[in-house]
Amino acid sequence: MKISKIFLYDEPAVSQLNVSNLKNFLLETFSVDVEIKKCIFNNLNEKTIERISGCRIFEPKIPFKWHLPDRQEIDFEKSICEDTKLMEKTTMIEDAKRIEDVVMYDGFEVQNILCDIIMENDPDPNNLHIIFTNRLICTYDTADSRYHGRSVICSNPAIISTTGMVEAPARPREYYFEAMKCKIQGLSIQSVKKNYNGKFLDYHDRRLSKITEGYLLQTIFYYITGDAFCDSLDCRLNNAHWQKDLLYSQLKIGILCNKHQALLDKLHL
Ligand SMILES: [Zn+2]
Repeated sequence: MKISKIFLYDEPAVSQLNVSNLKNFLLETFSVDVEIKKCIFNNLNEKTIERISGCRIFEPKIPFKWHLPDRQEIDFEKSICEDTKLMEKTTMIEDAKRIEDVVMYDGFEVQNILCDIIMENDPDPNNLHIIFTNRLICTYDTADSRYHGRSVICSNPAIISTTGMVEAPARPREYYFEAMKCKIQGLSIQSVKKNYNGKFLDYHDRRLSKITEGYLLQTIFYYITGDAFCDSLDCRLNNAHWQKDLLYSQLKIGILCNKHQALLDKLHL
């Protein structure tokens, strides 16, 4: 697909996500027009809020089933649409007592709704819309029959979730073991986190914006070539399953591999 213009939808709750810098990064990397838009989840109509609430996952081991939200759930959805800080609180897996308390959404269902919102005003398929959100977006994996958090959902609109970046790529195994021990004893896991300082991305991490650049590249490569990812760790298109790989590819390496750089040069974008 060709791209005429890229639209970036801001997520104001994550101040570390510097959308102006991300716009500049795109302008330096591609010769396409980029426009910043306001948070897409603000000022939605009642019907759309109800549809989004219907995408929530309540049981991570069951494939998606449409959920008919009640009045209370719709009001709750409305409050987190308008108050993204509140939204974040409801996605913090580490603070939740039970996984059912974490607000999770089926990523493809939310993407369909966002697509409808965007198409109403901009039906041009050459415009790529990329939505930043702190919502925890998940997809069901038939390989192990459960939902998993995702950092990015490609296609148009593409969704990049900051909560997904923190939660989806795994932390060191020892960390989970130590954190679980703390939880069982009723202690805060903050001291465990301190022991692993900098080893994984955290909420409001100052590295979030730089890492987001890599996910932006993945959404754009997917849109143009149908392939978002690269097997090489020495490439920003690497689809990291571990936090250490994510930090390595995006921060230590911070460039495309030779193959993908050559592809980008050939595309004359
Ligand atoms: Zn590559």
